[in-house]
Amino acid sequence: MEIIHTIEVKALVELQKKDADMDAKKATASGVPVKIAALNAAFETKKNSMSAAHEALLALQVKKKDCELKIAEADEGIRKHQRELNLVKDNNAFKALLSEIETDKKNKDELETGVLFLLEEIDKAAIQDKAIREEVKKLEGTMRAEVAALEALAKEIAAGLEAAKAERAAAAAALNPELLEKYEAIRENKHGLAVAAVHEEPATGKLSCGGCHMGLTPQKMLDVKKHDAFAVCADCRRLMYLEKTVYPEAQNAAPAAEKKEEGV
Ligand SMILES: [Zn+2]
Repeated sequence: MEIIHTIEVKALVELQKKDADMDAKKATASGVPVKIAALNAAFETKKNSMSAAHEALLALQVKKKDCELKIAEADEGIRKHQRELNLVKDNNAFKALLSEIETDKKNKDELETGVLFLLEEIDKAAIQDKAIREEVKKLEGTMRAEVAALEALAKEIAAGLEAAKAERAAAAAALNPELLEKYEAIRENKHGLAVAAVHEEPATGKLSCGGCHMGLTPQKMLDVKKHDAFAVCADCRRLMYLEKTVYPEAQNAAPAAEKKEEGV
């Protein structure tokens, strides 16, 4: 059938609009948990880098403490050898002790240089640690607000869908069952779009199917302009209609809006 005559064109167009609106809302609602999971994952990642920064700081502090202990040990060694220095009589033993004291001093110097370096590193790590902690705190606030907004949106959509479902059922029940069955069958096969508004190229006046974008033949162009009828798309088999035929009253409002846009 290339043309479907029915007085329910407008009613079916309205049902399609309702269904498209509900489908879009369902898609938005089903995207909410995904978005929340992504927000949580991003926050977890940030928290992990906060832990890593803090651990890096702690490790440097442990290293510094270790160096300081070794410095104390070296000091102890130097003092011990200096005391022994006063007791030995043997020249070789004296020399050996002096050499040990030298080694201890050299070690101590190296350790002290190490501590200075570590102090710088600790300063840097502490700044990093503080910055990332503040970042996480801030992110936690925005993340909580975003999650709350998403949850509110999901709730609002769910409530709206409940109301829309009842309205949709009533609108569908009022339609001719055969037409409704045809509509549902096409909708099922065509990703939810069974009734498609024809697109009119403003410059050329050429018409194309709003579902598959196939250009209309001259015969189809005539068919789609008929009142109380759907032209069937030769390509995708969707039911096509012309907005200005179904909604002639909207045509008076449209030019004013266009003029306003031009003026901007
Ligand atoms: Zn088509």
